[in-house]
Amino acid sequence: MNNIEKIRAFIKRYNMESYLSTDNYGANCIVYSSVKESGKLSKFIRHVGESAQVNEYYDDDSYTCDDCGITIDATAYGASARLNDGLACKDCILKHPADYIETLTDNPNNANTIIPIGSLYRIGYETRNNEPYYNGLHMGDNDNPKVIYKQYKTPTNTVIFHIRNCNPFTTKFDVLTKENETEE
Ligand SMILES: [Zn+2]
Repeated sequence: MNNIEKIRAFIKRYNMESYLSTDNYGANCIVYSSVKESGKLSKFIRHVGESAQVNEYYDDDSYTCDDCGITIDATAYGASARLNDGLACKDCILKHPADYIETLTDNPNNANTIIPIGSLYRIGYETRNNEPYYNGLHMGDNDNPKVIYKQYKTPTNTVIFHIRNCNPFTTKFDVLTKENETEE
């Protein structure tokens, strides 16, 4: 019996609600359903040994992809997004990006963190700013997406915000637009 099987058998023996899964890093993981179970189970995992190689999550620091069911580290940047009908992991979004793009389109309250910018260029978007915008805690980092949106939105285009990178203090972002295809 390998370590994962041992953990699975332990969960079953004690009739636990905690469960084994795979996470967004591609690793085996365990999602603890309660403090009580995590106490008992984490002790067992230590006992099984370092080689058990499981990442550990609690219900409230992880999400589940509504599409493929993997566990997503809630602190991982750009690993998941909320769509209109649930939450999806990066891989599922990249397989079917249309629903995600819809949540970004003409929406200054949302920004792309998942789709590579090159893929947006391929479907007709262009970056409009030369220097990146900044929004954050530092002096001067006060570029406001709602203001920028009004600046670039026209009756014939769609606007998307794209986050280049982000840290706890500032978000560096771009604005992209695409001319709508005219039906003639
Ligand atoms: Zn998924």
